[in-house]
Amino acid sequence: MQSILQCMDCGRQYPIDKVLYTCEACGGLLDVQHDLDTLKQVVSRALFDERLSSLDTPYNSGVWRYKELIHPAIDNEQVVSRPEGNTNLYPAPRLAEWAGVTRLYLKHEGENPSGSFKDRGMTSGVTQARALGMKRVACASTGNTSSSLAAYAALADMEGIIFFQNRGVALGKLAQGIAYGATAMQINADFDRNLELVREIAERLNIYVLNSVNPFRLEGQKSIMFEMLQQLRWQVPDWVVVPGGNLGNSSAFGKALKELFELGMIDRLPRLAIIQAEGANPLYRAYKRGFDHLEPLKAHTVATAIKIGNPVNYPKAVRALGWTDGVVESVTDQEIMDAKAMIDRQGIGCEPASACSLAGARKLVDAGIIRKGETVVGILTGHILKDPDATIGYHSNQLENITPSYPNKLHQAEPSIEEITRILQGEAIPTH
Ligand SMILES: *Cc1c(COP(=O)(O)O)cnc(C)c1O
Ligand SMILES: [Zn+2]
Repeated sequence: MQSILQCMDCGRQYPIDKVLYTCEACGGLLDVQHDLDTLKQVVSRALFDERLSSLDTPYNSGVWRYKELIHPAIDNEQVVSRPEGNTNLYPAPRLAEWAGVTRLYLKHEGENPSGSFKDRGMTSGVTQARALGMKRVACASTGNTSSSLAAYAALADMEGIIFFQNRGVALGKLAQGIAYGATAMQINADFDRNLELVREIAERLNIYVLNSVNPFRLEGQKSIMFEMLQQLRWQVPDWVVVPGGNLGNSSAFGKALKELFELGMIDRLPRLAIIQAEGANPLYRAYKRGFDHLEPLKAHTVATAIKIGNPVNYPKAVRALGWTDGVVESVTDQEIMDAKAMIDRQGIGCEPASACSLAGARKLVDAGIIRKGETVVGILTGHILKDPDATIGYHSNQLENITPSYPNKLHQAEPSIEEITRILQGEAIPTH
């Protein structure tokens, strides 16, 4: 069951143990290509269902439960796992109503060990780093990749190296990277420039790059689709809606669904809807132009996790959209924060970027692209506590260019029974 690295553009193949992120011949992105014909004899719904009850590593992980489809040849002893995954899939009837559909589920990837879906890609990426004998791993990050890399590097006893922009990084994320012991660098450059820097420095110093340009990251992230489908008893939803930044997740979802289909484990593919923030929407703009080319831009959005102007996985995301008959939508910061307030208000909660899923679903229903009777799964990518400033800023009406539609006022009172009573009796009980 040997897997190989394969260029998505020219098809050139490389051995799986070569340290390589793009094709030496043409510069194209690489896929980890598994031997699906052989795997067809090995994997089944029954195998994965049976492992649901496992208490043993690595099969107790929501990533490694699907080991044969992630990294089949890796020795179980090599696997670096927290374990991760096993995140909830919430039915969300009130939010479904708000978005205008009959059935909406939210898969909460903020429930991973470091608080975002990045852990699913990091367990596979750091496992590969260990298999390759690498001692140092690095990434550029808007925050969550760093948190996750720092945590997994600590677990694997490697040096983690994380590059941030010197402003606009959510505090929860910055704090995690430092606390988990990574070598943390604040650089006067945006994410896109930082990624270029990391790739050059890694090459020079023999450091392993764990941004989503690394194809092993995407293998782990495929498990979001595997797990979601298993939770739905392998009933395929009509839509999967996901925020898009560097487009690693979107790319991984496309590959996951295509492989499941080719393995005969699902009978059709859901349609993928990738949602970008208006100030960071180069994929959306390219989509509107028929994918002529990607035009990088300077990104601005309150949703810092997707503040990316030159997404490295653009070609893979376009491929995923082709496979799934997918669409791309763009939402304003106002729409993102209002959708977040709705998700938070259910007691579920998420960080701003994650709310693109709901905001985008609502917009696509409005546009008649998602139909009322269809089943929608939205991906919540990160935990509400990652970015408390954005939440407090919204409810206290202090975010620039955003007027909160669903504010929850924070009351101030003297320690006086009369005053507090007056406030509580004056409060109408909110209905939503
Ligand atoms: C990384 C991240 C994204 C963007 O995912 P991509 O794979 O880069 O498109 C969205 N939301 C959160 C919370 C993230 O951490
Ligand atoms: Zn190539």
